[in-house]
Amino acid sequence: MSMNTSGSGSGGRKPAPTGSSGRNRNAFCSFCRKSYRDVGPLVEGPGDVYICGECVELCQSIIDQERKRRGINKNSITNIPSPRSIKEKVDQYVIGQTRAKKILSVAVHNHYKRLSIGDEGHSDVEVDKSNILLIGPTGSGKTLLARTLAKTLDVPFAIGDATTLTEAGYVGEDVENLLLKLLHAADFDIEAAQRGIVYIDEVDKIAKTSQNVSITRDVSGEGVQQALLKILEGTVSNVPPQGGRKHPEQQYIQLDTTNILFICGGTFVGLEDIIARRLGKKTIGFGASSEHRERELGEILSHVTSDDLIQFGMIPEFIGRMPILAPLDPLDEDSLVRILTEPRNALARQFRKLFDMEGCELEFTEGSLRLIAKMAHDRDTGARGLRSIVEDVMTDLMFELPELQEKGKFTVTEAVIRREESLYSKAMIPDKKSA
Ligand code: ADP
Repeated sequence: MSMNTSGSGSGGRKPAPTGSSGRNRNAFCSFCRKSYRDVGPLVEGPGDVYICGECVELCQSIIDQERKRRGINKNSITNIPSPRSIKEKVDQYVIGQTRAKKILSVAVHNHYKRLSIGDEGHSDVEVDKSNILLIGPTGSGKTLLARTLAKTLDVPFAIGDATTLTEAGYVGEDVENLLLKLLHAADFDIEAAQRGIVYIDEVDKIAKTSQNVSITRDVSGEGVQQALLKILEGTVSNVPPQGGRKHPEQQYIQLDTTNILFICGGTFVGLEDIIARRLGKKTIGFGASSEHRERELGEILSHVTSDDLIQFGMIPEFIGRMPILAPLDPLDEDSLVRILTEPRNALARQFRKLFDMEGCELEFTEGSLRLIAKMAHDRDTGARGLRSIVEDVMTDLMFELPELQEKGKFTVTEAVIRREESLYSKAMIPDKKSA
């Protein structure tokens, strides 16, 4: 809307007369009740009605949000992606983990179906919410899976950490802060946030255990599981917009968590022993080769049931709200090599692009990729270790790259990874003194 300064023709709006002789010198915004003196020019409407610039902007954002919401609603009803198409998109970023991908794609597909049933508003069947629990070793792609899903579905996504949460009354964060993160991710568009995905990492660390002597949260971790129950199930939660601890005088944003998909993840170290014992298998021996141990770990985890998790220390009510269990496999060396090269954001591709922008070429030999994978594998941190190994050998060259006299091709070999050779020779660097 633009201000019409040429009088008040029919339907026209004009700035409120605010001069010292104006009849409405004390005009104030009819929406926020602030006076001209506080908020600047006002637009006058028919009758004794005025609106200030701030309120115009606010109204505009409310209308934008409403339009966006309607757009999203329409999409979710008419355009539910099939499990296969969800998996295909996730495949572009996440290597391996076929079983977990399938479970997740079906769960998310059903989640959207469930939302669309809600939108139709006339169904005799109610489909229950299916939160998901990802179980797998560190660096095997749990967070990546959740993040990629959110990206492919174009819904707000937030990551939280169960270890920072406490039940009300203890030092730490309230569980509502998870929802605040989601609201932030949705730009405070409440409707969008209510259809978002929240990933809660390290839920295995809030298992009941007698050895936990943390002073920052209740000793057992059980209280945090209890505190999470409500939001996992679906409730109208009071979210403090400033974050931190709730207090009585605060204003809250009300967020309905019924349609928010919660994906929890954890490494659950020791769970394999519980499963193996139940299956009557011997636990994984230390003598076995690491490849063999890995395969066995993946195999055993694939038999996980709710009871195993309860025995691990999760309370039955919590596990009851996580009906879908998705075990992930430990990543072997072959998978790590693929992770280095195949995904759209693969490390080798990223570095190649950075070199390309400087007019240089970068190549990794087959052997070097394998060695990087082997070193990362030995560190036992899954794919997490890859980046630090690659960064390590690249840093010196990346530092000099923009100023190199000779642009050319660089080849990363096994010797470079072993630090026996450098990736660049000093001759390529311009002499700073003569410059
Ligand atoms: P966690 O299982 O501990 O949550 P992450 O998902 O955070 O592990 O993985 C750490 C990083 O390792 C990711 O950012 C990603 O770059 C890489 N990564 C891990 N697993 C995979 C995978 N299966 N495919 C591709 N990249 C992966």
